[in-house]
Amino acid sequence: MPESAAPTPLDPLGMTLEAFTAAARERGFGPGQAERAYREIFRDGKLEAFADRGRIIARVSIAPIVRELSEEVAEGVTTKFLQELKGPGIGDRRPGTPDAQHHDGRSPIPSPPLTTESVIIPMRGRTGTHTHTLCVSSQVGCAMGCRFCETAQMGLVRSLTAEEIVGQWWAATHLKNARIDNIVFMGMGEPLDNIDEVIRAIAALTDHNGAGVAMSRITISTVGRVDGLRKLDEVVKREGWRRLGLAVSVNAPNDDVRDDLMPINRKWDMAELRDALLNFRRGSHRKICFEYVVIPGVNDDREHARQLAAYLEPFTKPTAGRTGKSPVGLVNVIPYNPRRDSPWPAPTEESVDQFMSWLTDDGLFVKRRRTKGRAMMGACGQLGAAEIRRRKYVGITVGDG
Ligand code: SF4
Repeated sequence: MPESAAPTPLDPLGMTLEAFTAAARERGFGPGQAERAYREIFRDGKLEAFADRGRIIARVSIAPIVRELSEEVAEGVTTKFLQELKGPGIGDRRPGTPDAQHHDGRSPIPSPPLTTESVIIPMRGRTGTHTHTLCVSSQVGCAMGCRFCETAQMGLVRSLTAEEIVGQWWAATHLKNARIDNIVFMGMGEPLDNIDEVIRAIAALTDHNGAGVAMSRITISTVGRVDGLRKLDEVVKREGWRRLGLAVSVNAPNDDVRDDLMPINRKWDMAELRDALLNFRRGSHRKICFEYVVIPGVNDDREHARQLAAYLEPFTKPTAGRTGKSPVGLVNVIPYNPRRDSPWPAPTEESVDQFMSWLTDDGLFVKRRRTKGRAMMGACGQLGAAEIRRRKYVGITVGDG
């Protein structure tokens, strides 16, 4: 075959081995060659894999790490790293990209570089085991506009491809040499706003021939896009998906507070969200984790605790068919990490403890998320590079999905 006719190498990062093997077969490679190449890319950290006679079968393009911040915490070192993306991606509406021209008619100008943000978080289990959780981004920026969130200040720049999402795992594993045990979709972006690529990424990440992350160790965190939850509900019914974790950012005891904090609530209110979650719970084998960012003077008084407990009451009982008394939902209390130019301070330790004990008194199963990485703006709700944020290309488009 002449040099110019050689097919472009496949990028397996967004593929299961099965999909990769099928694509490789169309290019004349056998299943053994495909399997070997797949393992070399995922497990050995190679950027290229060859079949025979120097024929290249796979090549991955990993966005380079352009910035890195580390912070010592009790369990080890938390590391946030930024990867610079090449070219426009899904729904890219920056000036100079095709969508931008299509939507706003402005003449093309060069687009500045974009970065994803990921955080490697050391954890220590109850038995003293050390693990690492990787917090990945699913979008650059976010359209959801939560008022307490740093990323929201950027608006949505674009969604990531499955390859770019898995590329964060690859970089953490093979460039940062971290053994990743858990993956949480809690970085920049709303995963259900980019659900197809997120599902494709999870399928690749859980393939035991490659990354081999257990489905039970992956959690999607959402603000509660009800349309996305319905779609996810179908996905978790598939073989191998029932143990996918779900975390929902509730953050408010009632619709008034939630409307104000999270614009998504004006499209799907708390009652609709709860119905969708109850439905989801019937199909899943996992507990749902409810996240609650405690913001002083906004959502942290005694009555708020009561209202939250009443709202979550259906999740405190075992589901039909389950034995034992363990609750099917738990509340993860997160002390607010002030974003840049925040209108609110961080809560005091005492006020967080007080709020948690009220929730416990009211019958909820409560855990506290320890803050890691606050000093480097890598803690929850703080991802979003200030340089990108200042560009402000895309307006908030909450609820248009
Ligand atoms: S909290 Fe999550 S969903 Fe809300 S704006 Fe921030 S990144 Fe988006």
